[in-house]
Amino acid sequence: MLATARTFSLLGIEVREVEVEVDVCNYGLKTFSLVGLPDTAVRESRERVRAALENSGFDYPQHRITANLAPADLPKAGPSFDLAIAAGLLGASKQLKPEQLAGVMLAGELALDGSIRPVPGALAMAEAARSLEARAIAVPVANAAEAALVQGVRVVPLERLEQLKQLGTDEEPAPPEAFELSLNGAAPTGSDLADLRGQPYLRDALEIAAAGGHSLLIIGPPGAGKSLAARRLPSILPPLTRSDAMEVLRVASACGFLSRGHLAVRRPFRAPHHTISTAGLVGGGSPPRPGEVTLAHRGVLFLDELGEFTREALEALRQPLEEGRVAITRARGAVELPCRFMLVAASNPCPCGRGEESGECECRPASARRYRAKLSGALADRIDISVAVDRPTAKEMGAGRGVDSASVRARVVAARERQELRLGAGRCNADMDLAELRSAAQLSREARRTLARGHAQLGLSGRGYDRVLRVSRTIADLAEAERVEAEHVARAISLRRRGNE
Ligand SMILES: [Zn+2]
Repeated sequence: MLATARTFSLLGIEVREVEVEVDVCNYGLKTFSLVGLPDTAVRESRERVRAALENSGFDYPQHRITANLAPADLPKAGPSFDLAIAAGLLGASKQLKPEQLAGVMLAGELALDGSIRPVPGALAMAEAARSLEARAIAVPVANAAEAALVQGVRVVPLERLEQLKQLGTDEEPAPPEAFELSLNGAAPTGSDLADLRGQPYLRDALEIAAAGGHSLLIIGPPGAGKSLAARRLPSILPPLTRSDAMEVLRVASACGFLSRGHLAVRRPFRAPHHTISTAGLVGGGSPPRPGEVTLAHRGVLFLDELGEFTREALEALRQPLEEGRVAITRARGAVELPCRFMLVAASNPCPCGRGEESGECECRPASARRYRAKLSGALADRIDISVAVDRPTAKEMGAGRGVDSASVRARVVAARERQELRLGAGRCNADMDLAELRSAAQLSREARRTLARGHAQLGLSGRGYDRVLRVSRTIADLAEAERVEAEHVARAISLRRRGNE
């Protein structure tokens, strides 16, 4: 007797349909073979399915069982196939009727006692079930909230394997309540830009970076507030749109971060340690997993101690920064992952952290030189704004709180609206290509003169020149100016450090 159950394979953050065909032969030796490119976790599924069936009051067939996961050339990884394998087995042994499984997609990991554990990627699975016009998708109860964000497909939350008997009957578990996305986008409470004492220059740089979506490098000694400033950046970025929020959730779902409960969506903030591997940073592995750049999608990626990251890891960031996506090529086809993020990097001025200008630097000249070369090497041509900051003075520390995130965010939102009028929805100045930049950044005569002077003084490269133009345009947008004026250019030039080209 043969039966089929439908499920999904998660690849990156996307899913593909997988059919589980189960054949139960009423003669021969008692065996259970699983074919169709399963990885170890899928092969171990046989043991979990057997125990879960027996502990849920079902009969485990005492003869030859064959399960085939099709298409055979699609890699299958992880334990999320358990539920569909069990359902197919129940169909093939006539413990479930064919019409109960018709039009239902299933995903879930089985515990030996028959309870159903959450799986990664349930949101993408529900979306795929909707586009495949499935009657329903049965998911672990812990994944029901994320699956229910998808309208137009019935979500059946399951807690235990024996509930499969209820599929397609009057007792089928009711769909969970539809969840309203809360798009506050703000940082967690208690994390406000007002916490940053003094540092007007750094505060300005943050606001301009947020307004234009520009990448930012902060150089300064320990205690200068670099990390604190970076962590406050999400609190001044515009709120997420619904479609951006769904992208953020899809990534979080694929990584198994979402569980039952209220789904408040914020822009992500990721701060990987400098010892991270290249695959950990940009994604990779088998099966392909999202890296930090994808976890930071629509949010902020913060690289503290930029100079300590390996050259290989920094090189690997170039393509993601440029294209907003990562392609992971595997023997069996490529997986593409989204990664539109704002990069914020921070560094000490030299290995000892005091900086040459302080007069207290203890670094050997050669090692200080190497350190600077690394900072200005790998990523500098991808960084729009770089600022040097110092520790706040005692007076600044004693002063009251600064401007709060909400006020800054209002200006950022207004500046982004001007950019969208010019460039189209969802785009900002950092995304402009050269032709757009030329037409958007119309300079006054005075501004052109200022730029020429700055060009000569800073020894700007062609790219550096374009970057100053780009940042000038953002400063003009913050000032609600149609044309880029001399003062905007002068401020943009002050946001590029000499020698950091
Ligand atoms: Zn030093």
